[in-house]
Amino acid sequence: MTRTVYVNGEYLPETEAKVSVFDRGFLFADGVYEVTSVLDGKLVDFDGHAKRLERSLNELEMKAPATSDELLEIHRELVAKNGIDEGLVYLQITRGAPGDRDFAYPAADVPPTLVLFTQNKPGLADNPTAKTGIKVISVPDVRWGRRDIKTVQLLYPSMGKMMAKAAGCDDAWMVEDGKVTEGTSNNAYIVKGNKIITRELSTDILHGITRAAVLQMAREAQMEVEERAFTIDEAQSADEAFFTSASAFVMPVVEIDGVPVAGGKPGPIAARLREIYIDESRKVAL
Ligand code: PLP
Repeated sequence: MTRTVYVNGEYLPETEAKVSVFDRGFLFADGVYEVTSVLDGKLVDFDGHAKRLERSLNELEMKAPATSDELLEIHRELVAKNGIDEGLVYLQITRGAPGDRDFAYPAADVPPTLVLFTQNKPGLADNPTAKTGIKVISVPDVRWGRRDIKTVQLLYPSMGKMMAKAAGCDDAWMVEDGKVTEGTSNNAYIVKGNKIITRELSTDILHGITRAAVLQMAREAQMEVEERAFTIDEAQSADEAFFTSASAFVMPVVEIDGVPVAGGKPGPIAARLREIYIDESRKVAL
């Protein structure tokens, strides 16, 4: 089936959708994005993603091409048109196509580019990997200093995933000044005793929407949460390790740099948080 995608006001077959070669997303990675998961044909944490998008746009002085309500409508329309039950909606906004290449931002009358498409992922909730966990390597975090803005500058995270693959692993956790910042496309956690530990929010990491929801649910379930940075050594000797993201929810990490975490088996806290997050998300999805 040909996918229907959205480009600048139009729903089009993916084969007919076009963006200019002068688009600043293409030339300068001058764009922001969001990925929202779909469960039971409904959007998970949409409000959180819409708010973060607004923040990313503001931080970069980029115009919003649509209101949050309009974006919700487009998300829903695409989910319906593509018959998505479980999957993802990708949204990207760039500073538009001024018709030439110039480092300076274009004039205010250049409209931003808005693109959305769906990815069908049956089995997103019932992902068998959640039962076995994943293996990560550590790599130096050499990204720019505003990781709190969700930009499309994703080359280093891609390189990190390739380094992980080359090492026979699934993902990379990035390390700066001796402490883990985050995964290539996820937030990183360890568990010590009953305490869930994850790096505090700053410009060093993306403020994960799944992170916010999972920490709130953990606190509501009387679990202890400590927001602070941790080292790879500490993670290797932790009782559990896991990550969160909109596309993987809560995912156990069972090996770090070749060292098994807690005997190389997913732990009960990650499993419980995954269950709570998916159950609660289903209830309030839009
Ligand atoms: N950190 C980084 C670097 C990411 O790219 C992502 C998601 O793409 C996350 C964390 C997790 O954020 P969210 O839970 O909003 O998907």
